[in-house]
Amino acid sequence: MTHTGTNTWIVGQGTVAVIDPGPATPAHLAAILAALSPHETVSHILVTHAHADHSALAPALAKAVSAPVLAFGPATSGRSARMAALAAGGLAGGGEGLDHGFAPDALLTDGQVVQGTGWALTVLHTPGHIGGHLCLALGAQLFTGDHVMGWAPSLVSPPDGDMTDYMASLLRIGADRWAGFLPGHGDPVEDPAARLATLIAHRQGREAQILRALSGGPLTLPALVRTVYADTAPALHPAAMRNALAHLIDLADRQLVIASPALSPAATFGLVPPGPVTRA
Ligand SMILES: [Zn+2]
Repeated sequence: MTHTGTNTWIVGQGTVAVIDPGPATPAHLAAILAALSPHETVSHILVTHAHADHSALAPALAKAVSAPVLAFGPATSGRSARMAALAAGGLAGGGEGLDHGFAPDALLTDGQVVQGTGWALTVLHTPGHIGGHLCLALGAQLFTGDHVMGWAPSLVSPPDGDMTDYMASLLRIGADRWAGFLPGHGDPVEDPAARLATLIAHRQGREAQILRALSGGPLTLPALVRTVYADTAPALHPAAMRNALAHLIDLADRQLVIASPALSPAATFGLVPPGPVTRA
């Protein structure tokens, strides 16, 4: 799910920030230290979100360079009320790659500016892929973590991920003009508006496919995924199942879909029948 690995970004010169240290492997730590110029120091370590492929190396890097780790919060921080309630109710699944031990030294909030020597990063809280996800703006460049990746649509797996929030966060960053996106996986995105339009259309397309499939009658989640994701390799169906569940929760909240007997991956999902037509 990480494509060719995690992109770690170094911001500034001389005294720098490191964005997303990456997975806890000696090779990743060595690569970051090797990428620093001689006598360069790290003043800040920023983490877009508490998935282990982004955050797990943070403690070792912090120790190696004596810099604090800044992030939105621990692994389940920023969870929407809806997802918190589903998690409390025992919603099965989720938790893919969560860095449960992640403990930043300082917490970042939306709109905050992190100032370094010769650089400033503005924090945008972009929940959806995970509740505590941040994007970081450096002028007109946006470090997008896993909110927008350079290679594939993001996983939105409830209760960590929330499709309603994810779509709102795509629209939110789309309200600004960006010169480029620097993602956590894949190549830099040179046409951010086009990439956002593609991702939004992809999600809206999946939603339409789900509604179309359910118009033939109620379906279980696996049956729905076999229909809607017929073009996706079977090996990716477990991930597709999580994205489909995220859509179904969003559709249930919008009263377009009903889950029976209760909202869970084991439920049967059907369309809400149209209400009676009343004449004023
Ligand atoms: Zn992630």
